[in-house]
Amino acid sequence: KISRSLPQIRQLDEAAANRIAAGEVVERPASAVKELMENALDAGARRIDIAVADGGKTLIRVTDDGHGIPAGELGLALSRHATSKIDGTNLLDIRSFGFRGEALPSIGSVARLTLTSRAEGSAEAAELRVTSGEMGPVTPAALPVGTVVEVRDLFHTTPARLKFLRTDRSEMQAVSETVRRLSLAAPFTAITLRDVTGGGEGRVTFQARRETGALPEARLARLRTLLGAGFAENALPIDAERDGLRLTGYAALPTYSRGSSVQQFLFVNGRPVQDKVLTGALRAAYSDFLSRDRYPAAALFLDIAPERVDVNVHPAKSEVRFREPGIARGLIVSALMHALAGAGHRAATTVST
Ligand code: ADP
Ligand code: MG
Repeated sequence: KISRSLPQIRQLDEAAANRIAAGEVVERPASAVKELMENALDAGARRIDIAVADGGKTLIRVTDDGHGIPAGELGLALSRHATSKIDGTNLLDIRSFGFRGEALPSIGSVARLTLTSRAEGSAEAAELRVTSGEMGPVTPAALPVGTVVEVRDLFHTTPARLKFLRTDRSEMQAVSETVRRLSLAAPFTAITLRDVTGGGEGRVTFQARRETGALPEARLARLRTLLGAGFAENALPIDAERDGLRLTGYAALPTYSRGSSVQQFLFVNGRPVQDKVLTGALRAAYSDFLSRDRYPAAALFLDIAPERVDVNVHPAKSEVRFREPGIARGLIVSALMHALAGAGHRAATTVST
């Protein structure tokens, strides 16, 4: 009889569990920036400043003027599965960007993270540092109401992941893409991205002012900041509703199409998403006007009752599953075809007069 040693089942400690989760939540600096920016938006920030050095590998700092975190809750904010955004009883009704309570502890487990915050109504700020998952004490700090999250040396505890990062330049590009995309979800928030490589004030690489007025106009103004006047001048406003789904935003004339999908911005309940149902519908709507190698430019916002779409598909939360994908697709195709037909009609009348 051969004797084998039985493997023993052990409970992983929190630091190890966080590091494993970090593998899915923070793939690269851009994903950390996304999580921190979403937290700032969830906190109601009207202004967000993002500073990044060396493509985010050595430094990411996100400063917001949101509602802040009370000193007594800083430790919780850095603990796994602790969140102020849901109470756990209704996972089908998620209205915030965050809900998993994973981002801060995950980032803290693979970097040196400093969380400084002053909560609304609080006279003082406080600070908590976490290095490779080890939490320090809460100390007093100076800060106006809001939060600063500073992340240094991302992935220094996970060399394998570090090795897979691209050049500083491509990581910075991914950061910039993430900031720009998410900025479209928040036209009433001023957003600045600075490259502070080498120290000092750094160089502003993206800046969007706080828009005012009604949402459609604010979105168009933000799109103008993002894509230049060309998109805005060629954009058709979209506003359609069917079966309780509402589609708003802007779709550009076919003549303004691109050679890639860089100018396609799709949102579900305010969240930037990558979704085949939506991109497929967008393509289908333009199929009479565009060849296969051209991509329509559009920023579309689909609003749907939270229980009809599942956002809890992947830790990065950029995928969704529709309960009735056909309805979403149908709405997009018909709304866009209608807008394009109207534009064609107008163009034809202009020519004939
Ligand atoms: P989640 O966003 O899923 O709740 P996080 O780990 O990203 O999880 O954040 C944990 C908690 O820390 C949040 O629920 C929130 O209460 C608090 N928090 C994080 N960032 C901020 C911020 N910038 N402003 C205010 N509170 C924050
Ligand atoms: Mg979060």
